[in-house]
Amino acid sequence: IGKVIENIEKCGTKFVRLQFVDIHGTPKNMAIPLVKPDDIEDIIKDGLLFDGSSVEGFVDINNSDLVIKPDPDTFSALPWRPEEKGVCRFICDIYWPDGTPFEGDPRYILKKTLEKAEKMGYEYNVGPEPEFFIVDMDEEGIVYPHDEGVYFDVEPVDQGTDMRRELVLGLEELNFEVEVSHHEVGPGQHEIDFKFDNALKTADAVITFKQAIKAIADKLGSMVTFMPKPFFGVNGSGMHCHQSLFKDGKNVFFDADSETQLSDEALYFTGGLLKHSKALSAIVAPSVNSYKRLVPGYEAPVYIAYGLQNRSTLVRIPASRGNGTRVEFRCPDPSCNPYLAFAAMLEAGMDGMANQIHPGEPTEIDVFELSPEELKPLGIDTLPSSLWEAYHALAKDEVVKSSLGDHVYSQFMDLKRKEWDDYRIQVFQYELDKYLQI
Ligand code: GLN
Ligand code: MG
Ligand code: MG
Ligand code: MG
Repeated sequence: IGKVIENIEKCGTKFVRLQFVDIHGTPKNMAIPLVKPDDIEDIIKDGLLFDGSSVEGFVDINNSDLVIKPDPDTFSALPWRPEEKGVCRFICDIYWPDGTPFEGDPRYILKKTLEKAEKMGYEYNVGPEPEFFIVDMDEEGIVYPHDEGVYFDVEPVDQGTDMRRELVLGLEELNFEVEVSHHEVGPGQHEIDFKFDNALKTADAVITFKQAIKAIADKLGSMVTFMPKPFFGVNGSGMHCHQSLFKDGKNVFFDADSETQLSDEALYFTGGLLKHSKALSAIVAPSVNSYKRLVPGYEAPVYIAYGLQNRSTLVRIPASRGNGTRVEFRCPDPSCNPYLAFAAMLEAGMDGMANQIHPGEPTEIDVFELSPEELKPLGIDTLPSSLWEAYHALAKDEVVKSSLGDHVYSQFMDLKRKEWDDYRIQVFQYELDKYLQI
């Protein structure tokens, strides 16, 4: 706590934001104006009561008191807020007033799953690759990409260069170790990758990343969207997740003695991801729009298979070995709640290890080139094609369901059912164009 007070003093903090996420992974916060830096002490010790009934996926109005408590390790000054009388934030944990953890808090769900892995000696790491579009809006509200660039373009074609510069500098002020930033395949589409870390830190970082990038872009007069598929006919935005398990400081996915230098654990973990991928989709690709990304031809996965260098498959095991050995899961998109997504992915992978689910031989052909007749004898199944299919798959998958716990699972299903029903009854321009003459 002493260190935190020191930091608050050093940063000239006036406002302390207490932040958490709702069931969708949307950041929520309240700000406390400090009279003096050590005011923070009581808040860290005792937390603050708040009304949780208007937070999606939290509590009912007749039982609505919750306590929010900052995690002191997550202190960060917010670089896009004024320097004088500045703003810092803590990511918080949520409790019932009696001090027990609130089981609807997504961060708690991830912590609980990580503890389970820790008991077996495992540390679970995730390195995400979030993609996003920078967009502008005309007077009629039509949204279009900020630039015409394509993959790895340079300025002046890449009109996002200056924006990416500001975004990366802002992230560095937030202590991100940015590894690479580049223009992506779609016009106006970009990617910024940061260093992997344990899953809790990475989930916190994904929330901070999205919040920071949207806030900085907004200050510069543009908008960033993490929507998975904003434009028809153009690549969507994914958030591939590179995962590894460490035991005693060593990556257990690496085995120097096997032919592929992959351990059985790496294969079984992959087997678990593949086996549970339909149900996982509901959590890692949780919006109606997610399923417009997961279609053939746009580098997004459709077929449930794994490959070593193969970017057409759902799981890819990149060439790097030793402590860099990892399993890349490619269907997550940045609209997911990273806490729930990582908890579910880890649970699926651990199920693969516990039950020795072998993923079979890797697929080394471009699966997008195969017809359904060719896929069938290979035993290659497909991901859900809609949110509806995905949440039905989730309802049938005890392993993935249990990763969410009862509270989050039932809230999640209710909300997703509503989201689907709301979408299902809309009438779109596409339908008028196609059927009006009937
Ligand atoms: N945008 C692609 C996706 O939706 C990924 C493209 C890439 O990074 N190679 O997953
Ligand atoms: Mg990448
Ligand atoms: Mg990419
Ligand atoms: Mg990737």
